[in-house]
Amino acid sequence: MKAVVVSQAGGLDAMSYTDIPDPQPKANELVLKVHSCGVCFHDVLTRNGTLKAGVSLPCVLGHEVAGTVLECGPQVKGFKVGDRVATTQRSYICGHCRFCRSGFEPLCAQRVFLGDVGLVGGYAQYLAISSDCIAHVPEGVDLDHAAVAACAVGTVLNAVRDVGRVQMGETVLITGAGGGLGLHAIQLARLAGARVLAQTTSPDKVELIRNMGAHEVVLHKRGEPFAPLVRDMTQGQGADVIIDNVGTVLFEDMRKSLAIQGRWLMIGQLTGDFVPFNPAQFFLKNQSLLSVTSTSRTQLEDVLTLMQRGQITPVIERKLPLSAVAEAHQAVEAGRTTGRWLLSPP
Ligand SMILES: [Zn+2]
Ligand SMILES: [Zn+2]
Repeated sequence: MKAVVVSQAGGLDAMSYTDIPDPQPKANELVLKVHSCGVCFHDVLTRNGTLKAGVSLPCVLGHEVAGTVLECGPQVKGFKVGDRVATTQRSYICGHCRFCRSGFEPLCAQRVFLGDVGLVGGYAQYLAISSDCIAHVPEGVDLDHAAVAACAVGTVLNAVRDVGRVQMGETVLITGAGGGLGLHAIQLARLAGARVLAQTTSPDKVELIRNMGAHEVVLHKRGEPFAPLVRDMTQGQGADVIIDNVGTVLFEDMRKSLAIQGRWLMIGQLTGDFVPFNPAQFFLKNQSLLSVTSTSRTQLEDVLTLMQRGQITPVIERKLPLSAVAEAHQAVEAGRTTGRWLLSPP
């Protein structure tokens, strides 16, 4: 089959579009015919070597996959050939540890990140994956939309609903609001009844950000502070919740934008840089730093239901053939994308 393989971390030319053997399903695995696969900043970090934990090369990147079931291993239950399915961001979880048994299976000690380990990822024609890591795509939901359901939407559902517990009437600041997660964070925070402040440095993304439902756009020049804008928009109070898709680069301004008792939801980190802070800056205001990682199968199913009902509009900007992977990585790495880009195999 055709696949994009990364043998050694590096620049765009670290990815080669090549032929590798078709996958064979293990007992609890299915083989999917990949319909489309989202390109995530995570893929860029794996490819360029910034992300090392849990990565094992050579690998086939890609964890935002939707497709149809082509073959089932003998122990697979609940899925059959021809089913339309979408993946979580895992290719394997154990299924019986305390995390797997309590809806926190993305944290399973034996988890394998889909696309970071071996020749198992969505930048390919076919993919073998554990049946624990996929969900049925309901009727009426496009497979291109389903591909981004787990990562670009489900991670934000995890943040807004389950970790952040955003309450009606609270103010939510979303950083990197014009990105793949940001545009869905705006919609979900709005759905939760929040007042949404959306931070961006791209004037050309403002209209789309507003169309997604942001009440205020925090537009500033790259490298310039935005905390004063947030303070003005909140009568000096700051935001009750920050959904942070950017990380270190915006750290100090986010800190200054957080209200007393605020919750800071860390989802994204675009660089390998560290940041110094004084813990007292947070605990004297009773503020919480909270972590959000990936998506459980239940969260994925909930997102697909929201899509089916039309309560969430997935934002797909472009769809390219798999062979054009370098063009997609270049755009994502440069932050030039507005919404998700998809790759489709031949
Ligand atoms: Zn992703
Ligand atoms: Zn487990």
